[in-house]
Amino acid sequence: MYYLKCIECGKEYPKTEVLYTCECGGLLDVIYDYSQIDIKKEDFEGIALSVWKYAKLLPVDRKPITIQEGGTPLYKCDRLAEKVGVRELYVKHEGMNPTGSFKDRGMTVGVSKALELGMKTIACASTGNTSAALSIYGAKAAVPAVVLLPEGKVALGKVAQALMHGAKVLSIRGNFDDALELVRELCDEEKIYLLNSINPYRLEGQKTIGFEIADQLNFQMPDRLVLPVGNAGNITAIHKGFKEFNHLGLTDKVPKMMGIQTEGSCPIVKAVREGKTDITPEKNPDTIATAIRIGNPVNARKALIAISESNGGAESVTDDELVEAQIDLAQLEGIGVEPASATSVAGLKKLVETGVIGANESVVCVTTGHLLKDPEEVISVAPKPIVIDATMEAIRKVLY
Ligand SMILES: *Cc1c(COP(=O)(O)O)cnc(C)c1O
Ligand SMILES: [Zn+2]
Repeated sequence: MYYLKCIECGKEYPKTEVLYTCECGGLLDVIYDYSQIDIKKEDFEGIALSVWKYAKLLPVDRKPITIQEGGTPLYKCDRLAEKVGVRELYVKHEGMNPTGSFKDRGMTVGVSKALELGMKTIACASTGNTSAALSIYGAKAAVPAVVLLPEGKVALGKVAQALMHGAKVLSIRGNFDDALELVRELCDEEKIYLLNSINPYRLEGQKTIGFEIADQLNFQMPDRLVLPVGNAGNITAIHKGFKEFNHLGLTDKVPKMMGIQTEGSCPIVKAVREGKTDITPEKNPDTIATAIRIGNPVNARKALIAISESNGGAESVTDDELVEAQIDLAQLEGIGVEPASATSVAGLKKLVETGVIGANESVVCVTTGHLLKDPEEVISVAPKPIVIDATMEAIRKVLY
């Protein structure tokens, strides 16, 4: 059993309602009766990792629309740990999902919910990855999908996916925040189901990142979880996953949640620094990390609660710093990520350098999206191919 509850005024709504925010404008959370949920560690033994492995803690009452999302690798990264200066470092590589980002976890739940609620069309605004996920699950579910993208600011791989899987792709002459405002209005007026992360059901799917990390580490939780923050849904979702396992007695602690943004787009970091409980939106966010180029994160209130409740923090990095981390991930650990994802490692490095994170801590970084999402950025920062004549002599000359 579950229902929706406003995080601001506490008003409750039944799960049958199509609703994204409270009457008061507050964000909604999905609330379960944990006393009715019987889960033991042994229940997870011998079952392959996936989002739906944790179905008892997911708010879907029908057969899910699934493309085998989740079950991503958690790599132990000793070379990177040494470079960054922490005792133990793992990377949870969400780029290994069906469309190459964690957005699939939210979308399998969200699109299943759309069908359960009888919705006939689904939509989102997106910096790219949400549109790729919406498009693929719309195809699988045979539900028309509409996506609004900021024109010229979406990485090539993501647009390719949204187009190929059949969504109606609208390029908006404006930024992400403009696109989101428009799609919210569209969904309200046209009875289309909104699948941005303001939709509380999407975050329920994403909390399985937290479940999987616990499962993969044999329920020995790390000290910190470090991840990139855009609309701030994922940090909220993973924190909820950690809290639920802790509440159910499966783990003995909740990691400190560390949110990383770029200096060109960091309203959450500023709010944390100033000790505020809400953000001041940024008008012209700018960074090469297009997935987190967001000036007015919709889940800011939830994320700021997750950060303070967990005794976590926030940090910003420059585009140069994140590119360095992207290259380190690629060349020290064989993990290929898009620019936004590398902010987790760049942020960790900075937090260790400034003494916020101690050298003896254990840390999990989440890399949110795959390298091939943004091939243009990769080509611009990676070494160039060496062009030579088609002779052995020429090869030897450049090798030695
Ligand atoms: C969506 C996304 C993010 C940001 O996640 P939020 O939940 O919006 O904070 C970070 N990295 C990548 C690759 C993404 O696609
Ligand atoms: Zn309310």
